[in-house]
Amino acid sequence: MKEAIRQAKKAEALEEVPIGCVIVYEGKIIARGYNRRNTDKNTLSHAELNAIRKASKKLGDWRLEGCTMYVTLEPCQMCSGALVQSRIDEVVIGCMNSKAGCAGSVMNLLQVEGFNHQVKITQGVLEEECSTMLSDFFKRLREKKKQEKAARKAEREKLENQQSEKEADK
Ligand SMILES: [Zn+2]
Repeated sequence: MKEAIRQAKKAEALEEVPIGCVIVYEGKIIARGYNRRNTDKNTLSHAELNAIRKASKKLGDWRLEGCTMYVTLEPCQMCSGALVQSRIDEVVIGCMNSKAGCAGSVMNLLQVEGFNHQVKITQGVLEEECSTMLSDFFKRLREKKKQEKAARKAEREKLENQQSEKEADK
C-alpha cells in the first residue's frame, strides 16, 4: 500500500485526484498505476485500469489469477468490472468511497454471486493516510478555486474602476 500511495502522489503532482495502485504477483510488484484521467483526457485512465494493462503485458495473459491489487481508494464500477473480468484474486483497499465505490459502498460488484468470478476484498489498509491524502487534495483544490475567483473579481473591479475614471475624464 505504501507503493500505491507513492503512485497516488504522482497523480497529485499532475494535479490529478491522488489515486494509485500496484499489482503484486508471487510477492513482487509487477505493475503500478495512477490516475491520469485529466492528463490523458480519457475516462478510462483510472489507476486500476492503467495497472491492469501493464500487469497483463508483463504476464502475457489477460488473466490476473494469483495477483493481488493494492489500491488507495475503493474502485469505481468500471474498475471493479475490469477486476472481475481479469479474474484477479484479491483487492486490498486503503479507504472507501461512499459516493462512487463499487466494492461495498454504492454496491459490491466484486462479489456478485451471479458472475463466474468473485474477488476477495480487504479494507482499511493505511486507511487514514489514504483518506487524508484525498481530503487534503480536495481542500487545496477548493482554496485554489476560491483564490482564482477572488482574483477574477479583483480584475473585474479594476476594469470597472478604470472605466468609470475614463467616463469622469470626459
Ligand atoms: Zn475506476
